[in-house]
Amino acid sequence: MSNREPAIANRLMCPFCGNNTDFFQIAEDAIITTHFRQNADGSFTQEENESQILGQIKLFCGSCEEELPSEFFDRFTEMVF
Ligand SMILES: [Zn+2]
Repeated sequence: MSNREPAIANRLMCPFCGNNTDFFQIAEDAIITTHFRQNADGSFTQEENESQILGQIKLFCGSCEEELPSEFFDRFTEMVF
């Protein structure tokens, strides 16, 4: 792994492959409620999406797809705006 980039303490980096750009999360149990309004012609327009997450949310590296440790997840949730 090369270390050419300046060390920025706030940058989250995958400890397995060094990826620091792509991440994804998976919610284990979620209820997704989608509201629709029926139009005069019988078609439907989607109004809003609500999701309620019941289970755990896990953070994964988008490059090597390893699950990241929980301290990474804590950092991640703090830095999502
Ligand atoms: Zn990785």
